[in-house]
Amino acid sequence: MTDADPEFTFELRVCRWAEQRWPPRDVHRADTAVLVARQLGTRRRRWDVIVVEVDREALAERRRFGTRGMDRDLLRVVRNAPANWEWYRDALPDPDFPWRYVREAVHRAADRDLVETRTRGRRIELRRIRPYPDWVERIVAIENKPDLDASAARRLRDQVEHDVALALADEVWIATRATGERVEPALLENLPVSVGLLAFDFGDREATTRLRGTGTTLWRPRSLEVDEPGTRILDRPSGDVHDRSAARFEYVDPGTKRETRLAIAERAYERGWRSYRETMRPDCRSFELRRDGVVLLPWCTATCTHQTPSECGSGCPAFAPEPPGWRTKGWPIEGGPGRAITRLLERRRERARPDDP
Ligand code: SF4
Repeated sequence: MTDADPEFTFELRVCRWAEQRWPPRDVHRADTAVLVARQLGTRRRRWDVIVVEVDREALAERRRFGTRGMDRDLLRVVRNAPANWEWYRDALPDPDFPWRYVREAVHRAADRDLVETRTRGRRIELRRIRPYPDWVERIVAIENKPDLDASAARRLRDQVEHDVALALADEVWIATRATGERVEPALLENLPVSVGLLAFDFGDREATTRLRGTGTTLWRPRSLEVDEPGTRILDRPSGDVHDRSAARFEYVDPGTKRETRLAIAERAYERGWRSYRETMRPDCRSFELRRDGVVLLPWCTATCTHQTPSECGSGCPAFAPEPPGWRTKGWPIEGGPGRAITRLLERRRERARPDDP
């Protein structure tokens, strides 16, 4: 099999590994339940893989709010909703934006049965249905760079230095492909010592089948101070001898970091890592999922490659819809292979959510 973009399939393999095996063998944390997602983060920074370590019992409480994630506005309402009826402006913390946006969020929360509302005179009152649980324990960010040569390491260094300075995630790792050399080349690159290094051997089918043993810790990361103010680096000198500009940065307070972390965890909870089906075309007659060891990877029979989300979209010149006959011959009446693939990935996402205690 070939990969049109080795980074995409590498990322899916790392996600599957994390779902089954996090934390790495030699990083001891007992009974860690995790949610895994990909391509999540903030407006400024998106990580390849996110591992959310969760409290199982608290997650079961979170599930009672449904499987959809909550954005920051909904979280503000749900987390601060009082046990007894109160005017929403008395109950919720003062926003640094107009109250009408809070009112909209209250209505959205009520529409999703996250809180109860009623109108008294001209006032909207709310009360909670149940307390929002403290389900997120740690957030781990993994940046994938299968081929970590010197120039890739230079580019990556800037990004992970920002991550360490801001300390939004509890840990930052770089995942790379194992080379089998006596000293892995990744260890020789000039990367921040706070960042962990993982090497994966996904090289052949046999190794992939033995997925459980493939993640090797080359370097352990330092736990970052997520409850302390973070530093967002806005600009810094290029390193050129003629560049006399000063570094620019701003502080991010712990409260803002806490809200951002929870919003990221909520997105991870809703999306998981199999959400690539939403941006690809499983309704194309050439779209397949092929098993590669213990992971299912998208496969395009038209190009005989593992296609990427950017190739497998509405602009693909080779797109051909499933013939109508596929929808009635041998497939459930409600859809052909494309729908079946979508349902399969959806079921797997559900199964991947840690069990209720
Ligand atoms: S949309 Fe294009 S890339 Fe995707 S499966 Fe169809 S032919 Fe392949």
